[in-house]
Amino acid sequence: MRDDAPNGQLGGPRRRWGDISLAAALTITFTVLVVIGTYQPEPPPATAAAQAAKKDEKPWLRKLAPGEKPPQFVLFSFDGAGSHSHWQRVLPLADRVNAKITGFLSGTYLLTDLQRTAYTGPGHPQGHTEIGFGGTEQEVRTRVADINEALERGHEIGTHYNGHFCKGSEPSVGRWTTEQWTVELDQFYEYVREAPGLQLTQDRIKGGRTPCLEGKFDQLFPALLARGMTYDSSRLTNGIAWPSLENGVWEFWMPIVRVPAMEKRVVLMDYNLWYALNKAKEAPNRTAEFTKVTLDTYRAAYDAALAGNRAPLVIGNHFNEWAGGAFSSATEQFMAETCVKPDTVCATYSDVIQWMELQDPVVLDTYRKLPNAQT
Ligand SMILES: [Zn+2]
Repeated sequence: MRDDAPNGQLGGPRRRWGDISLAAALTITFTVLVVIGTYQPEPPPATAAAQAAKKDEKPWLRKLAPGEKPPQFVLFSFDGAGSHSHWQRVLPLADRVNAKITGFLSGTYLLTDLQRTAYTGPGHPQGHTEIGFGGTEQEVRTRVADINEALERGHEIGTHYNGHFCKGSEPSVGRWTTEQWTVELDQFYEYVREAPGLQLTQDRIKGGRTPCLEGKFDQLFPALLARGMTYDSSRLTNGIAWPSLENGVWEFWMPIVRVPAMEKRVVLMDYNLWYALNKAKEAPNRTAEFTKVTLDTYRAAYDAALAGNRAPLVIGNHFNEWAGGAFSSATEQFMAETCVKPDTVCATYSDVIQWMELQDPVVLDTYRKLPNAQT
């Protein structure tokens, strides 16, 4: 395991939820340590995909019967989505527990290091990103095989855009205009189109998550709509909320929840939890502790939604080994124990949109009007 993108980069404190004091929780100074992969020549065997396809029925994808509660959806989402070793861990696990997941791919992971000049981030020099590029030709080939395998097994690929320019790396995405987002997005599509053998087509890319959850969303959303995209999963909300249509785009809110072990409210995302626990610094003896705190937070959030408004629970993660892999472990354990529970569906974003569109709006509204689930 290695970090392909070890360059640290700092942003300032940020607040998106004015009503509650969250300065610490929202200090998403994002050190980019996204693991994008280690070399492995062989893609997973195709027979596994064939087996997974058989299980690919969605009995829950129907209108609710009168009085029936919505399934408890859990959306596992992985930003970057370039790490071969993580795909190798997550794909068999997801199959085993019948989970569908979403990878938000960083487009420049489809470019080899030698192809770096093909990218120019809006306002940035040609050939520069905060997360590096895709490595060797063989590494890109392996990544393409992983993504194809994920698609074949019914998972979804969205975008984490390209350059990962957060606050401090100016002009960061928080300053971009619609035109700049469009340039970024069109470059993403170009890498998807040009990546040899990649079976991801533009029409299958329906949504994304912005770097560090930053961005002016009134600027971003017109760019998404103009390219036929349907959802975003970057904005913050207090507690666990139902997705809502915001200017024509489904927003799958990133929940801010109380972390039981810390009595702090934190964005339910790996980096934010790490920051809240230890200012996002490595602490080799504390991996097990961080895993437990994270897992307990996920469990509390799930219980609250299940017993409350039944809002889909978004679990945001990167393919990373931060804090000795504490967050990846917690996420994988949570997936293993949760996706097999009754009335629970671990689904992709587009799955949940399809489900919502099948429902009687009046019925859905009764759930939307319930208070956001709180831990
Ligand atoms: Zn990211």
